[in-house]
Amino acid sequence: MVRRQSRVVTLTDMALGLYVHIPFCSAICNYCNFNRGLFDADLKTQYVAALQHEIHRRGDGDPADTIFFGGGTPSLLEPEEVAAIIATCGRAFAVTRDAEITLEANPETITDDKLSGFREAGVNRLSFGVQSFRDEELQRLTRLHSAARAIEAFGIARTAGFDNISLDLMMWLPQQTIPQWLESVDALIGVGPDHASLYILELYPNAPLREAMARGKWSLAPDDDAADMYLEAMARLDAAGYEQYEISNVARPGRQSRHNLKYWTDGEWLGFGCGAHSTRRGVRWKNLSSTTEYIAAVACGGQLVAERRVLSAAEALEETLFMGLRLARGIDVNTVKARFGVDVWDIYRRQLEQFRDAGVLIYDGRLLRLSRAGMLLANEIMAKFLVSPVVD
Ligand code: SF4
Repeated sequence: MVRRQSRVVTLTDMALGLYVHIPFCSAICNYCNFNRGLFDADLKTQYVAALQHEIHRRGDGDPADTIFFGGGTPSLLEPEEVAAIIATCGRAFAVTRDAEITLEANPETITDDKLSGFREAGVNRLSFGVQSFRDEELQRLTRLHSAARAIEAFGIARTAGFDNISLDLMMWLPQQTIPQWLESVDALIGVGPDHASLYILELYPNAPLREAMARGKWSLAPDDDAADMYLEAMARLDAAGYEQYEISNVARPGRQSRHNLKYWTDGEWLGFGCGAHSTRRGVRWKNLSSTTEYIAAVACGGQLVAERRVLSAAEALEETLFMGLRLARGIDVNTVKARFGVDVWDIYRRQLEQFRDAGVLIYDGRLLRLSRAGMLLANEIMAKFLVSPVVD
């Protein structure tokens, strides 16, 4: 941890991102650790009203250039509900005309009418949780859609006019071999989204999937295979014209996620809804996690914030470095110096040189970035930013 208390420049000139959490799902997947619950139509109606109250209450007219509906399963909302929430954002903030408005969608929830409705509501980017293009893997994950349904949903979205679509895949699934993983990667390339996110399945301690794995005697491929899965997938995406801009994310030119870049580049965002996180003016906070408690608190004008923390200069720097190293572009050492008054290479040189010598970390005098192979060691390298350098 850096001990020097240096001047911190807040990035208030950057437009805000607005995150809207929708905590409802048709079924709960056996690996999911998000803040979500089973769909209930009455609860959803109350929740949408509460969201609009919260947005209205916290609106200060500041510029915002992204709105992101995440979940849960935001595509379970009706288009009129999405339109009402976007309109509320527009009244509470100065939402730019070209704002990126993303909605996460599950393939099984999609119909022509619904997608056309979302488009008319102002949504201009979809993010489909596909996870795999192999049915047996989807079944092991207890997902409700099939590979064919995912491809069909993508086609419906294109027909509805969406020209900015992201697909999520998960790798290192139980029983998945390298060729099977690459089948999904090739299928994704064949479908041709504008953006893709590739995540490694992370199993939290009590995940029901763990029990299913024990019952079914399903195992995970060795760590070395996971590394090969990642490297070969990225090589195929490179060859297909995608540009990797973050450890887990690739995009066609100009189709990077503007909203997610706020998380990775020191931006500011406000989160609305249960369990939503916000970061603004050096303060980070999280709303009440429970959907019913959140609705009740909004109704009586009560306290919505469950946790609040003022980030110290050292924490803000640490986070800037962690997030910056996730980007393919890396950390701009001059920008960090202007903001925090410290030279990253000078203060961490002793800890980082071994990685530069091994070719997994690249420093050109201005940008400090991970090589592709270095991305596999990201956690190990980032941990060096937690080591206390002597700077005073
Ligand atoms: S659809 Fe997504 S949020 Fe809902 S339970 Fe499955 S993984 Fe979790």
